[in-house]
Formats: sequence, structure tokens, C-alpha cells
Amino acid sequence: MLIVCTVPAVVESELRAGLLACPSCRGVLARWGYARARVLRCGPVGRVLRPRRARCRACLGTHVLLSEQGLLRRRDEVAVIGAAIAARVAGLGYRPIARGLGVPADTVRGWLRRFAQRAEVLRAYFTRCAVALDPELGPLLPAGSGVADALEAVTVAARAWVLRFGPADLWWVASRLSGGLLCNTSSLFPRWG
Ligand SMILES: [Zn+2]
Repeated sequence: MLIVCTVPAVVESELRAGLLACPSCRGVLARWGYARARVLRCGPVGRVLRPRRARCRACLGTHVLLSEQGLLRRRDEVAVIGAAIAARVAGLGYRPIARGLGVPADTVRGWLRRFAQRAEVLRAYFTRCAVALDPELGPLLPAGSGVADALEAVTVAARAWVLRFGPADLWWVASRLSGGLLCNTSSLFPRWG
């Protein structure tokens, strides 16, 4: 699995130009059909996506190319999940957050629980990303809790990415930087961070 740009035409041209690297061996990825269609929930509305599948020319492994709008094993858009995390750090409980976003309460509770469990791992990883993107960056100050510190590191890293590569949605950048693992049990983040 690889997180790619959300615009299909950009992904196609990146594949044609050999610009996408295999997450296993860094070999060049080539087009290899499509993965099954799926619905990405963007708040109360759904968008049907049919992700590209690609095969590595070196190790022959196949990978699904997921849009940076989503996260691995999550049916909801990353910006919605990010809004829930930011609202939690601001002091709201999961029920009012869920009502505000139009998402089931149990779903929101699941995101918040996973992010909180992984807060220290995420804080450390995104801090490394931020420093790699902006070597001039000063130390990140404690934000008051493990979850707040993790959110701060995610935000600072995404802003550093935007400063370097141009305007983009901060949560889409966070999805891409995490390799889709922002709300997951895996720590197999992309190597560059
Ligand atoms: Zn490979």
C-alpha cells in the first residue's frame, strides 16, 4: 500500500514517468490494473473511489495506491478524522464531536482511542519528519498532554511540508507523511522520516 496524490491524472502521469517508488524495495512502480472500488465517507456524504494497483518492476510486489484523502483501514476522510482529534484536544468529548461531524459516535471513539494509544509513537515520528523537512526548526514545546503533543507534531510536520512543497490540505499531508498509518496499529512508517 502506498499513499498517493488524490488527483487520478497526477497519479497516472507519475506512474508513466516512473516517479512512484515501491514501499518495500524503492524500485519503480508500474500500472497493474485497479483495486476494488470502495466508498470514502467525507462527513455525511460518500465518494466512490477505485484505487489504482501498481506492480514493482524490481521485486514484482503489487501495491494499492490509496488517495491521501484516506487512511489505511479507515472508511472516513483523513480531514474528518483530523477534525475529531483537534476537537478532542480542544476539550470536547466524542459524542458532541460525532454529532458535529455527522459520524457515528462509536466510530469517533475508535479514532480517538487509537490516536491516543499511538500518541507517543506518532509524536516521535512526526517530529522526525518535521526536522527532516525543516532542519532550522526549533524544539517543539509540550502542548499539555500526550495527544496534544502528537497533534502538535503532526501539524508542525505538515506545515513544514507545505512550506517546502506548496499549498496542500494539512491532514492530506499528514496522511501521506504517515503512509496512511495515522490511526493504525502499525509503525511501518515511510522510511524517509
Ligand atoms: Zn519492490
